[in-house]
Amino acid sequence: MFIKDIFEKKKFVFSFEIFPPKATSSIDTVYKTLEALSDLRPDYISVTYGAGGGSNSNKTVEISSIIKNRYDIESLAHLTCIGSTKEEIKVVLQELKEEGIKNILALRGDIPLDQEVCGEFQYASDLAEFIMENDKFDLGGTCYPEGHYSSKNIEEDVKNLKYKIDAGVTHLTSQLFFNNDYFYNFLDLAAKYNINVPIQAGIMPLTNIKQIEKISALSGSKVPEKYVRAMEKFAHDKDAMADAGMAFATEQIVELMTMGVDGVHLYTMNNPYVARKTHDNIISIIHAMNRL
Ligand code: FAD
Repeated sequence: MFIKDIFEKKKFVFSFEIFPPKATSSIDTVYKTLEALSDLRPDYISVTYGAGGGSNSNKTVEISSIIKNRYDIESLAHLTCIGSTKEEIKVVLQELKEEGIKNILALRGDIPLDQEVCGEFQYASDLAEFIMENDKFDLGGTCYPEGHYSSKNIEEDVKNLKYKIDAGVTHLTSQLFFNNDYFYNFLDLAAKYNINVPIQAGIMPLTNIKQIEKISALSGSKVPEKYVRAMEKFAHDKDAMADAGMAFATEQIVELMTMGVDGVHLYTMNNPYVARKTHDNIISIIHAMNRL
């Protein structure tokens, strides 16, 4: 099923993101995560893709296929284009087709700092255009409630989003954020620039203090002081840190649901305990949303 059709049918779409294990770890670790998550029946599960053809990239197809064909849950395969040729992208598209995967998150990927980038794509919109010219996939794209780091400002970033939508992207998933006000401001800007596709909020429960610096560096998302204080206070007890992080994430999600967001995409960090507990905190509200 196309994810755009799930958005047509449901008022609120709830999904998980997982990532293939590093090349040095066994692929079984992600299968254990999937086994533990599958009975929650999210609307779909997305699988990340190593930028520039990282060593675990081919696992994205394999894992997306298991989600769809073994667990009968829709999968969304991430695909980055930076540094790739059209021929290389065609090979991955063919593999996805052979596995019956219908949904792709069309991404640029991060530009490596220390290498010259060759390849035939500059932006995610180029990839979206290329896929739509050649194939029948439903395409998702990304968006950044605090602005993408390479944009001059959030307004310019939102204007650029339109290229992706015009190229065929039918739904958006946001970068993780910890302060809902950024998301509401972003939604207002998106409406101003006629971006009318469903937009899912990306939420990540923080579970330990070590994540804070890494997450801010990787995503550019600001971590509110109250999160930092809680993680510092409970740094000696990992269960307490995880409970605090999940409570904050739950509060964020409940507020977003009350405001009527199209959906939430939970960055699980391959941690089924956190995904399950956060899901259980909101499941009755998800059902209530979809009965409205
Ligand atoms: P784009 O949408 O191409 O935007 C990149 C920048 O270019 C922005 O500043 C934008 O404003 C600007 N821009 C876009 N189009 C144009 C245009 N036509 N003209 C001028 N400027 C333009 N990375 C991975 O490597 N693997 C993953 O699996 C992965 N999954 C992700 C999932 C989500 C939900 C998110 C939010 C990010 C993910 N990333 C992933 C990170 C992402 O690859 C980086 O943030 C990357 O720097 C930008 O990719 P993009 O597809 O958002 O880029």
